[in-house]
Amino acid sequence: MLRLEMLPAQHGDALLLEYGPRETVTHRCLIDGGPDNAYRAVRERLAALPATPGGGRDVELLVVTHVDGDHIEGVVKLLQDDEIGLRPGDVWFNDWNHLAPLQKRVEPRHLGPEAGEFLGALLDQQARPWNTAFDQGVIMVPEDLEAPLPSWTTPGGLKLTVISPTIDTLLRLRATWKKAIQAAGFAPGNRQAALDQFRHRRWAEAPKVTLGDEQQRKTLDHSEANGSSIALMAEYGGRCLLLAGDAFAPELRMGLERWQRARGRAEQPARLDGFKLAHHGSAKNITPQLLAGVECPSYLISTNGKRFFHPDQDAMAMVVSEHRGDGTPVLLFNYETPFTKGWADRDGCVARYGPGSVLELATA
Ligand SMILES: [Zn+2]
Repeated sequence: MLRLEMLPAQHGDALLLEYGPRETVTHRCLIDGGPDNAYRAVRERLAALPATPGGGRDVELLVVTHVDGDHIEGVVKLLQDDEIGLRPGDVWFNDWNHLAPLQKRVEPRHLGPEAGEFLGALLDQQARPWNTAFDQGVIMVPEDLEAPLPSWTTPGGLKLTVISPTIDTLLRLRATWKKAIQAAGFAPGNRQAALDQFRHRRWAEAPKVTLGDEQQRKTLDHSEANGSSIALMAEYGGRCLLLAGDAFAPELRMGLERWQRARGRAEQPARLDGFKLAHHGSAKNITPQLLAGVECPSYLISTNGKRFFHPDQDAMAMVVSEHRGDGTPVLLFNYETPFTKGWADRDGCVARYGPGSVLELATA
């Protein structure tokens, strides 16, 4: 069984990934924690997870895809919530410590004792395992095109392969990160100041609704934070999910191409069982070039449409029209909103809504 549930994270992402050989033997990963104002609902779902004898809740992995508030704020709360007692086996998160030493054509290694930011302060303070699967180093696609994509298999047997970010998207984030922190009156590396001042900070820009296309640069997402998203292929029992964070479409396409090449399937679309669309179905993060590289029956869109009015209708139309593979595409929305409800009656697709719109797959 492989099960992906989009928690009610308002305009953000909080994804619960569960898997195991049987319903009764379940392993869990949490990808993002949603924004501050979704915490009560996200917390309620996590509180319902079985507690360990010590009263905590174990997840094999907590991934913080990137630093935008709608992904990170809930994680900051969660890690301070002693009643939930979340105990991740590892936390995957690129913070200032990982960005600061990045240099093109130099393989990132262990880092110095510089302090990081925000979530980094908490992770440090609580001595959480952090990027352990990567020797505490940065999580990214190697610059060398011949190098294998980094992958890691959880104790329960879920294989995760990193297909975003790249060094270029991380270097762009680093420049923005430094400027933003200096504008707030301190230097990158002051843990306490980061916790105090950046709790409500957002780097995301409101996207203008123009359909994304790799041929036209201005139609694509250029938010440095989004571009730094950790995007993962998650494989278990013959099934495969693409968890795209808010990553850029060209980077996702290139990552998928590399992933396919490594499996001896160059030039073929990647066969997925589910695709959690990047950036809540924004038109700037979906392109025909990306969709041409996947064959997928189900698409997941996590948003309540607030703030940025996601998903973009034209982007959803593109997902349906560019769909390849057997059958009609299934659109799974965690909220029924003016931006999502029209898709229930459309020709050529099936839409499901709300907490029941979970993607559950039988596994080998
Ligand atoms: Zn987001």
